[in-house]
Amino acid sequence: MKHVYNFSAGPAMLPPSVMQQAQAEFIDWHDSGASIMEISHRSASFKELLEDTKDTARELLNIPSHYDILFLPGGGRSQFSMVPMNLLGQHTQAAYVNCGVWGQLAINEAMRYCDVSIIADNNHVGPKGIPPQSTWLPYDECAYVYTVDNETVQGMEFDFTPDTGDIPLVSDMSSNLLSRTIDVNRFGLIFACAQKNIGPAGITIVIVRKDLLEIAPLPFMPTMYHYATHAKAKSLYNTTPTYPCYMVNLVLHWIKAQGGVTEIEHRNRLKANKLYDYIDHEDFYYNDVEKNSRSRMNVVFDLHEHDLTAQFCKEADERGLIGLRGHSSRGGLRASIYNAMPIAGVEALIDFMRYFARQYG
Ligand code: PMP
Repeated sequence: MKHVYNFSAGPAMLPPSVMQQAQAEFIDWHDSGASIMEISHRSASFKELLEDTKDTARELLNIPSHYDILFLPGGGRSQFSMVPMNLLGQHTQAAYVNCGVWGQLAINEAMRYCDVSIIADNNHVGPKGIPPQSTWLPYDECAYVYTVDNETVQGMEFDFTPDTGDIPLVSDMSSNLLSRTIDVNRFGLIFACAQKNIGPAGITIVIVRKDLLEIAPLPFMPTMYHYATHAKAKSLYNTTPTYPCYMVNLVLHWIKAQGGVTEIEHRNRLKANKLYDYIDHEDFYYNDVEKNSRSRMNVVFDLHEHDLTAQFCKEADERGLIGLRGHSSRGGLRASIYNAMPIAGVEALIDFMRYFARQYG
């Protein structure tokens, strides 16, 4: 099999040992004579798997018991509407911090349900960084404050947890959940689609404070869009995407076996520091994000000679370094170095970047 390092932003690479285990169990799961894909989502053995997935997530992220953990279909984007539909209650306003593509898309969707107050914006102008909380506009009248903890396209990540007092903090952690330790208590709701750090596409994890499930839903709320439906049914209201759940279970156990999220965070820091250090010291490349807002997951960078970007991707591809093209809305280059990317992959990328700079610089 061809060996590559996959820097794709998502769906992204999964740990090789997880893929091997999934392959070994593919047609016969736990001596059942059937694939996990073929058994009922309501069978005792699937329910056990789902509960174990929940328990393992709770343990890894230290999620307190007054939070529920939901596994939902619909991807990250379904949360862009589920969040306002479920959390607005009697409020007519919600506050958004907008730092990039994913913040903007969430705002566009929320505007269908409420007045969106953009309390901080770093999408178009100014230094490229997460606006410090001291610069945010007031949000006292808002139902919640919404952030994107890691902007996958812009390569920017919060290096602080905002303090929003009694107003629930909602965060899209699609591209960094489980990459570092977090204090869940500081959030009202966290969500993350799986296809970056957690598993394959098809499932989204929602961590929600239980009291928020009591908020009266919007009139005509679709049953499937109501968090309380899924909490009550323990994520088995509809036919849960069973195979993605199974893969998430394997990935969570892999994280545990690596030493948990603390160890994973340590490795992620090393990988990101190594890559940013190289970019900063090599005149041929640059990264224009403020240092304290640089993402540890999605390292965006550019060539001073923009015209060489396609050649860079072509030659990287030929060397088995795939998925480095930046998002279409931003262009340039992006190395996504999620949990499953080994340090050797980052080193191979730096070796190639050094070669390319010498060749064309
Ligand atoms: N939020 C963030 C931060 C993302 O990176 C993405 C996907 N790249 C999404 C939301 C949307 O996820 P999905 O494609 O599963 O709807």
